[in-house]
Amino acid sequence: MLKENEHIIIVGAGIAGLVSALLLSKQGLKVTVIERNEYPGGKLRAFSSQEGPIDAGPTVLTLIDVFQEIFTQANLNIFRELDLYKEEILARHYWPDGKCLDLFSTHEKNLFSIEKVFGKDSAAEFDKFHGDCETLFYAFNNTLLRNGCPGSFFTKKRFFKKVFLD
Ligand SMILES: Cc1cc2nc3c(=O)[nH]c(=O)nc-3n(C[C@H](O)[C@H](O)[C@H](O)COP(=O)(O)OP(=O)(O)OC[C@H]3O[C@@H](n4cnc5c(N)ncnc54)[C@H](O)[C@@H]3O)c2cc1C
Repeated sequence: MLKENEHIIIVGAGIAGLVSALLLSKQGLKVTVIERNEYPGGKLRAFSSQEGPIDAGPTVLTLIDVFQEIFTQANLNIFRELDLYKEEILARHYWPDGKCLDLFSTHEKNLFSIEKVFGKDSAAEFDKFHGDCETLFYAFNNTLLRNGCPGSFFTKKRFFKKVFLD
């Protein structure tokens, strides 16, 4: 349990450290973030080049509702603070033999795209992979990912057994 006059030291100014600092300081706690790099952001960063800055690290804003919740807790509106717009193509991948695969934000479009480039079997494999990931996501979303006290998840042996052993 945190006390009002406690001074919190956060190691690392990646997105996790920065969000923690934002939310803890909003609760009135004194927060200091220590970062070994000369810039904040961690993996979320840009390199300079002759043509201008090049973004590196994350490209897709996944689970926007999580970011919305964080902004709301900080009394901010994400849509007012950031210029967000939906990209039709999420990612374009190239292979040495010239193949090019686009990925989209809907499963159906991705299946179609994979089948077009790699054939029906690959699309079926991706469909199974997507289904497995969906099962894991719904199993862990509330219990672990959005659990304010994730350690408690591992003490729930019955749930653990259900997910991993059943
Ligand atoms: C190529 C790539 C693509 C990705 N694409 C996506 C995407 O599309 N969508 C998505 O949601 N996620 C994506 N991710 C994942 C996402 O980038 C990371 O999950 C997220 O940035 C991790 O943030 P973090 O704060 O946990 O860690 P980091 O960003 O690694 O931050 C940790 C920070 O701590 C600092 N630090 C560590 N040790 C010390 C120390 N001892 N003293 C001082 N400072 C220290 C580091 O310098 C760093 O700044 C991608 C990642 C990569 C690499």
